[in-house]
Amino acid sequence: MSVLVVGSVALDSVETPFGRADDVLGGSANYFAASASHQTEVQLVGVVGSDYPMEKLEPLKARGIDFAGLEQMEGESFRWRGRYRHDLNSAETLETRLGVFSHFKPKIPVQFTDAKYVFLANIDPRLQLEVLRQVKAPTLVACDTMNFWIESRRADLIELIKHVDLITLNDGEARQLTECSNLVQAARWIMERGPKTVLIKKGEHGAFMFMRDEIFFAPAYPLESVFDPTGAGDSFAGGFMGWLARTNDLSTANLRRAVIVGSAMGSFVVEGFSITRLLEISRDDIERRVAEFQQLVSFDRTLNA
Ligand code: AMP
Repeated sequence: MSVLVVGSVALDSVETPFGRADDVLGGSANYFAASASHQTEVQLVGVVGSDYPMEKLEPLKARGIDFAGLEQMEGESFRWRGRYRHDLNSAETLETRLGVFSHFKPKIPVQFTDAKYVFLANIDPRLQLEVLRQVKAPTLVACDTMNFWIESRRADLIELIKHVDLITLNDGEARQLTECSNLVQAARWIMERGPKTVLIKKGEHGAFMFMRDEIFFAPAYPLESVFDPTGAGDSFAGGFMGWLARTNDLSTANLRRAVIVGSAMGSFVVEGFSITRLLEISRDDIERRVAEFQQLVSFDRTLNA
C-alpha cells in the first residue's frame, strides 16, 4: 500500500553547533516522504511558491515519490529558520514565514483520494482537516503538530484530533497541548479526545507509544555524533507509517515494529543536514540498524541465583 502525506514543503535555514545551512530542502512533508519512500510508495500534497528551486526535488522524484499533489503558486515558499544550541533536543524557531501556505486550499488529485494510509504532517490544522475531508475511506489516519499551531490554532487542532487514529508529538508539545506535566496523563487526555494511539517522542531519550491498555517504549539509537536534529520527528513518522503501509498490518506487535523502524529513520536523518542521509542510505542499512535496536534492548530475565 502507498502512503499519502500533506505537510510543509519548505526552505530551511538551520544553525547547529556544527555548522549552518541556508535555504536547504526542508519541510515536514519532504522529510516524511524521503523517509517513508524506503518502505513504500509515497504521494505528496503541498504547495511551493514561484521561488522554489524545483530541481532540488528531483532526487525525491527519483525515489518514486509522486508529486502530483504539489501545487506551485505565485508568491513566496514556506520558510523556516531555526537554531539548536547545546541541547540538540529542542529547536529554537527564529522565523516562520508561511508564504503561499497562508492562502493554500489543498486539492487532492483524484488518484490519491482512495489512499489507505494518510499522514497529516505538521502544517496548519485547517489544511490537515481539509485534506482529510477529501480522502474516501482510509485505514489509518495519523497527524503531527507543533507548538506554533498549538498556540495559534488550538480549537482547529482539537477538532482535528477527533478524526485521527494516531497522533505523533514531542514531549513538550504533548505537555503544552494537554496542560498535563505527566506524560502518561497527557497521553490519556489526548486518547479521550479521539486518537487510539499516541506517540510521544523524546528526542535523544526515545519514544513512547501509548494505547488504551499498553505502553511501549523504544530508546533512541545511541549515536556518537548528532549533526542536525531537524526532521527527526518527520523521518520517524515516515519510517513508522511507511512500515505500516508496506505491511498493511495494524496488530500491536507490528505497531511496535513500526516504532523501531521510525526510530531507526530518525537516527539516520540527524547524521547530516537536510535530507542528505535519507538519500544515501539503503534498505540494508535500515535493517542493520533495526537489528542493532533489538540488540540494544534485549535481555535475559532468568535469574541464576
Ligand atoms: P521536525 O521533524 O519536527 O524537526 O520538523 C522539521 C521541519 O518542520 C522543518 O523542515 C521545517 O521546515 C518544518 N516546520 C517548522 N515549523 C513549521 C510549521 N509551523 N508548520 C509546518 N512545518 C514547519
